[in-house]
Amino acid sequence: MLGETFPATRNAALLRLTQFAPRAGHAYASGRNTDPGPDQAGAVSKLSPYLRYRMLTEQEVIGATLGQHSLQAAEKYVQEVLWRTYWKGWLEMRPSVWTQYLQERDRQRDSFPNARAIHSAEAGETGIEGFDDWARELLETGYLHNHARMWFASIWIFTLRLPWALGADFFLRHLVDADAASNTLSWRWVAGLQTAGKTYLATSENIARFTNGRFAPKGLATIATMPTETPVCATLPLPYANYFDAHKPAFLLVTPEDLHPESVFGAPAKINGAGVLFDPETLWGDSARSFVEGAAGDAAERVGNSFKCPTKLLNNLDAASVIAQAREVGAEQVITAYAPVGPVADSLARIAPALASEGLPIVQVRRAWDESFWPHATKGFFPFKERIPKILKEMGLSR
Ligand SMILES: Cc1cc2nc3c(=O)[nH]c(=O)nc-3n(C[C@H](O)[C@H](O)[C@H](O)COP(=O)(O)OP(=O)(O)OC[C@H]3O[C@@H](n4cnc5c(N)ncnc54)[C@H](O)[C@@H]3O)c2cc1C
Repeated sequence: MLGETFPATRNAALLRLTQFAPRAGHAYASGRNTDPGPDQAGAVSKLSPYLRYRMLTEQEVIGATLGQHSLQAAEKYVQEVLWRTYWKGWLEMRPSVWTQYLQERDRQRDSFPNARAIHSAEAGETGIEGFDDWARELLETGYLHNHARMWFASIWIFTLRLPWALGADFFLRHLVDADAASNTLSWRWVAGLQTAGKTYLATSENIARFTNGRFAPKGLATIATMPTETPVCATLPLPYANYFDAHKPAFLLVTPEDLHPESVFGAPAKINGAGVLFDPETLWGDSARSFVEGAAGDAAERVGNSFKCPTKLLNNLDAASVIAQAREVGAEQVITAYAPVGPVADSLARIAPALASEGLPIVQVRRAWDESFWPHATKGFFPFKERIPKILKEMGLSR
């Protein structure tokens, strides 16, 4: 089922983009809020796993969209894609929000007294119409429509009064597009932690309207009682992303954070060998693992052809095997697309000292897209959004 909905190849992603792009204007803006159910086509693009693992980039998706529509006509779609960019940049400058979430998840796992309530919510056995169906849909398909994610999170937090961090964990363990930034910050947004005091309260009327009358749950909370937390730390500067020396022989490390290194490292790069990481430990659940396993194989084939170098799959990121493979091909540096906050970034930080002591620096290179947009993710989405037209124009993507 998952493989049919989300074939894990770049060609499948490009085909989906080509088929969707004509519908990215009015059809998307007017239909995007409706979740017609898992068996219906709907107005959304279903590009999220491809964007999440960067088999397709935001730049390509917005480029294809603006190739067919004016920015004004496709404004809504462009903004939704840029929500992802915004969340990534926001978390990058506040990495402690991720560590705080992990601590809160572990604390709640150990101490929340009503394990049975968590179990019945995750199994779709609460008796709440819609909510139970979305829980089962998530388990079966690895995907939920954005509005269903919002309703589900809202009912989890405000009606069932379960800890938001355990709900975020449930999503991470089952979403094929599970992402540290988009998931954590969206759950925080629903809970009212992200935009201080602004909660998202799901209502039966809204659910009935935007599910085409499929669900009209009764007894939903009418008051949103916000969870509390220690204040989020101040914004940090973006971490430095190195520029690599294209003349030095390199070993290219490809991770699930960016499976299209061809558009990060251009022709001048002297890449002697490459390793594509598929480490189940850096992914949270079976849907994501099964998708990334296929996507890593697809990337390995492309990378070998593009850079004309021996390419292997790596099953875990341990310093000794990266050093051995880099040495084998005469590399003097390990280059990789920048890994944002999350388990891959943690693994890179863990092995970096051992590689450095062998004279093999790990050089992370950030995409021009992230360099342009992330610095503006300091406050809310509104001021970020104001910058979009100018930046897209500078990039030559819009007039
Ligand atoms: C509680 C909650 C948890 C979420 N968890 C994740 C997650 O783990 N991973 C993830 O990729 N998205 C997450 N989202 C955002 C959004 O729901 C999905 O990106 C979207 O539903 C994917 O479907 P689509 O590709 O058809 O989206 P479309 O509507 O076609 O949008 C196109 C692309 O824009 C981006 N996008 C759209 N809406 C959002 C949004 N609200 N926030 C961030 N990016 C967006 C996605 O990359 C998406 O593929 C979450 C939203 C909520 C409310």
